[in-house]
Amino acid sequence: METIVVRNPATGETLRELAPTPLDQIPAIFERARAAQAKWATVSLRKRANRLKDLREVIINRVDELAELISSENGKPRFEAFTNDLLPSVELLTYFSRRAPKVLRDRNIRITNPILLYRTSYLNHWPLGVVAVISPWNFPFLLPFGEIAMALVAGNAVVFKPSEVTPLIGLKIQELCEEAGVPPDLVQTVIGDGRAGAAIIDQKPAKIFFTGSVGTGKKIMEAASKNLIPVCLELGGKDAMIVTADADLDYATSAALWGSFGNSGQVCASTERLIVHESIAEPFLEKFKEKAEKLRQMPDPAGETDLTVATFDKQKAIYDAHVKQARDKGARFVTGGEFAFERKALKPTVVTGQNIEALDIYNEETFGPVVAVTKFRSASEAVEKANRSRYGLLGSVITGNPSLGEEIAKQLEVGTVTINEVMYTAGIPETPWGGLKESGFGRKHSDMGLMEFVNVRHIHKPRFNGFVFKSWWWFPYTPYQYATFRRLFDLYRRSWFAKLRALPLFLWNFVQFIKTEKRL
Ligand code: NAD
Repeated sequence: METIVVRNPATGETLRELAPTPLDQIPAIFERARAAQAKWATVSLRKRANRLKDLREVIINRVDELAELISSENGKPRFEAFTNDLLPSVELLTYFSRRAPKVLRDRNIRITNPILLYRTSYLNHWPLGVVAVISPWNFPFLLPFGEIAMALVAGNAVVFKPSEVTPLIGLKIQELCEEAGVPPDLVQTVIGDGRAGAAIIDQKPAKIFFTGSVGTGKKIMEAASKNLIPVCLELGGKDAMIVTADADLDYATSAALWGSFGNSGQVCASTERLIVHESIAEPFLEKFKEKAEKLRQMPDPAGETDLTVATFDKQKAIYDAHVKQARDKGARFVTGGEFAFERKALKPTVVTGQNIEALDIYNEETFGPVVAVTKFRSASEAVEKANRSRYGLLGSVITGNPSLGEEIAKQLEVGTVTINEVMYTAGIPETPWGGLKESGFGRKHSDMGLMEFVNVRHIHKPRFNGFVFKSWWWFPYTPYQYATFRRLFDLYRRSWFAKLRALPLFLWNFVQFIKTEKRL
C-alpha cells in the first residue's frame, strides 16, 4: 500500500511519511490483543480505574507537546486543541476513573412478583473482548481517546484506527497509554485508510465504535452484519439552532457564531441551520454578519486566530458544491462564500434567501464554516423545520423564555438539546453523546456510554442459600396448580377490596396444591 504523507494542512509542510500497517498483519494484531485482554479482564476494576488516573497524569505532563501536535496535524488553533481535545479528555479520565467502579459493579434487581419472593437477581457486567475504534480527523484526540479510555476501564482491548488524515495523533495516543503503564498489546494502532478499517472488521471485533460520515457508517454496518457484530455509530449532523423572538440579539449572535464556526465549522454538531423568528431575522443577520466579519481566520494555527484552514482537502469539494449551487439558485450570501489562502479555507459563510430550504447547503452536511439561515413564525413551525432533516444529532434553542425553550427542546428529534448554549456537551463526561436518525445510534460518555463497553449478564439465584425447592410451575401440571395460578390473576386487580376478596381462594388452592404435590 502507498505511503501516507502527513502534512500540516495550513502550511503544507510534510510532518512525517508513514507506511500503512500491512493488512496481513491485522490477524496477528487481534491475536495479541485477545491474549492481552484475557489477562486485563482479571485485573480489578479499581486497578483499571487507577490506570486512567496515570494516563491523566501523562497527558498533563505532555499537554503542550500534544497541543502542538494536534494543531499542526489537524490545523486547528492551538486554543482549540486545548479546549476541544485535551481538556475534555482529562475530564473524561477523571470521571470514568471515579464512576467506573460504581457503574460496573454488580447491581441487584428487585423482583416484586409475590410468588417469586424466594428468588433474587443481579446484573453482572463483563468486558466485551477486543473492540474496534475507528475515528475521523476533526477531533483526532478526544474522540478515539474517550472511547479507548472507556474500553480499557471496562476491561477490553482496543484495535484502533485513526483517520489516515491524522495518524500521528493516533500513534501518540498509543504511546501515552504505554507510558501510563497500560499493558502491552492492549491498545494497538492500525495505520491506513478505509481498507485497513474494513480489514479490522473482518477480524470480528467484539464491537465496533465508529465515528465518521453517514456513508462510511452504512458500509460499516453492512460489513458488521455479516458476522452480527454490534456497532455504535456516531455519524454526521445538520444541527439546527432555533432563535426565538425574545432572545437577546447580542447573546444569540455570539452563540450562533461559535456554534457555526468553532473548530472552523468542522464539528459533527456544528450549527449548520439557523431558524430565526421572522420578527428579529433582519437585525439578527445584520449583527451576525458584523461579528462573522470580525472573526480572524489565519492559516497559521499557532497564531492568534479564531478559524484556520480546512483540515481535509476533499471536504472542500463539498463546500464548493454547496456554495456553487446556492449561488446558481440565487441564494443571498450575507457574508463569505469565497475561498481564501490559496483556497485552503472558506471564509465564514452565512447564506439565506427565499428558497434556502430547498438547497443542499440547508439540507446536507457541509462540515465547514457555513451556516444557512431561515425564518419561522410560530414555535410549532420552528420545531417542524428543525425536525425536517434526515439527521438528528444535536439541536439548540436560544431564547429569553426558559420554559418555551424546554417546551421546544422536548419536541426536537435529536440526542441532545442545549438551551442558551450550543454544541459543547461532548466536553461534559457526565452527559450522554449520540444521535438518532442518520446521525447514528448508541451513546458515548456518561454512565450510559460506559455501558456500551460491557456485556450484561443477568444472574438469577435463590434469595437464601440452602433454601432450594422445586418451583411452582414445574411438571407435572395438576388441577390445583392450575387453579392456584388462575386465582393469582385476581391478586393483580386494581382494587384492594377485589384483591382481598380473591386472597382466600388463592390460598386455599395453593395449600391444596402443596398438600397434593408429587412433582417430578
Ligand atoms: P469518514 O467516514 O470518511 O472516515 C472515518 C473513519 O472511517 C476513517 O478512519 C476512515 O479511514 C474510516 N473508513 C473509511 N472507509 C471505511 C470502511 N469501508 N471500513 C472501515 N473504516 C472505514 O469520515 P471523516 O471524513 O474522517 O469525518 C467526518 C465525518 O465524521 C463527518 O460526517 C462528521 O459529522 C462525522 N463525525 C461525527 C461525530 C459524532 O460524534 N457524531 C464526531 C466527529 C465527526
